[in-house]
Amino acid sequence: MRVLVVEDEPRLARALQRGLTAEGYAVDLAADGLAGLEAARHEGYDAVVLDIMLPGLSGYRIVRALRAESNWVPVLMLSAKDGEYDQADGLDAGADDYLTKPFSFVVLLAKLRAVLRRGAPERPAVLAAGGLTLDPATRRVTRDGQEIALTTREFALLEYLMRHRDEVVTKTELLDHVWDAGADTDPNVVEVYVGYLRRKIDQPYNERSLQTVRGAGYRLAG
Ligand code: CA
Repeated sequence: MRVLVVEDEPRLARALQRGLTAEGYAVDLAADGLAGLEAARHEGYDAVVLDIMLPGLSGYRIVRALRAESNWVPVLMLSAKDGEYDQADGLDAGADDYLTKPFSFVVLLAKLRAVLRRGAPERPAVLAAGGLTLDPATRRVTRDGQEIALTTREFALLEYLMRHRDEVVTKTELLDHVWDAGADTDPNVVEVYVGYLRRKIDQPYNERSLQTVRGAGYRLAG
């Protein structure tokens, strides 16, 4: 397995390289953000260990750029602070996991094995279907670049449909995932909200992306 370590603190970078090499990984180092992004783009790594605070380009910007280019290489982020924000930002940007410095090398190895096991499935930070985009982190929805204002429930409904793009989703499934568990909800409420969504995401644009599949449910065509 070939791993790229993007870390600007030379001692930590060298220690990681030594430790990972001893574990049988092939390790390359990049000492700044731009070199890290270039290497991650072109070299076909199995995983990237990515510091957040880097000269040139931050780890957040690097992982966002890779995901925007549909590069799904597993990324383990190293965060200097242990602020929850940091970690949430890293995961929202498209990282797979994170470690807070100082960290134990044994834990780093375990997390690295875990992200390598998961491989590089597509997991865009921003969901897209046709001209629609939905960013779960910023809660923005756009159609052809134009922002669409949705209520919380409409947003949740669209997010679920976009995560199952091109699949038929039943009303029951939508009730289970979008409405509160245990709420005594009439399945017809789904129809009502599908109608609201269509009036915002489709009708003004002459689109028919949110389709009714008769007797089965709904499908968001992507
Ligand atoms: Ca750093």
